[in-house]
Amino acid sequence: MGVDNPLGENIITTSLDKLVNWSRKSSIWPMTFGLACCAIEMMATGASHNDLDRFGIIFRASPRQSDCIIIAGTVTKKMLPVIKTVYEQMPEPKWVVAMGACACSGGIFDTYSVVQGIDEALPVDVYIPGCPPRPEALLFGLLKLQDKIWNDKNSFGSAIGLGTRIDGATA
Ligand code: SF4
Repeated sequence: MGVDNPLGENIITTSLDKLVNWSRKSSIWPMTFGLACCAIEMMATGASHNDLDRFGIIFRASPRQSDCIIIAGTVTKKMLPVIKTVYEQMPEPKWVVAMGACACSGGIFDTYSVVQGIDEALPVDVYIPGCPPRPEALLFGLLKLQDKIWNDKNSFGSAIGLGTRIDGATA
């Protein structure tokens, strides 16, 4: 005589790390923050044709509620302190996407007033090339960011104060 399983096949097992990673990757909330022409493509990506909401990616108007910042456009030296302040106001864990040639490397603006890549100031997780990248490229970059978050290690432990989170890598 066997023991009945009241849950049948309606049960899954997973690790707490995976549970945390899954919830984080399914609710990326980027800052509403654009710098130049690339920001227009970012807005188009969030609009109905591409519909970021279906991935749980919803723009927020406050750094306090954001865990991702998409650097969409030319970063001038005058603007850099503002970007750093916004980034510092975002709670951990947080991610940075460099969207377009300007954010990745200064683009065509090799001048005294333009930062030659936002990675001079912030830790970039995903780089998206193009001038400007199309919405599909930003979408692909955000899916890569989801992959990266999914592969994070010790997410649960770091959330309860045990050790630090180890950044995942994209496939
Ligand atoms: S990469 Fe091109 S489209 Fe994007 S901000 Fe720079 S100049 Fe504009």
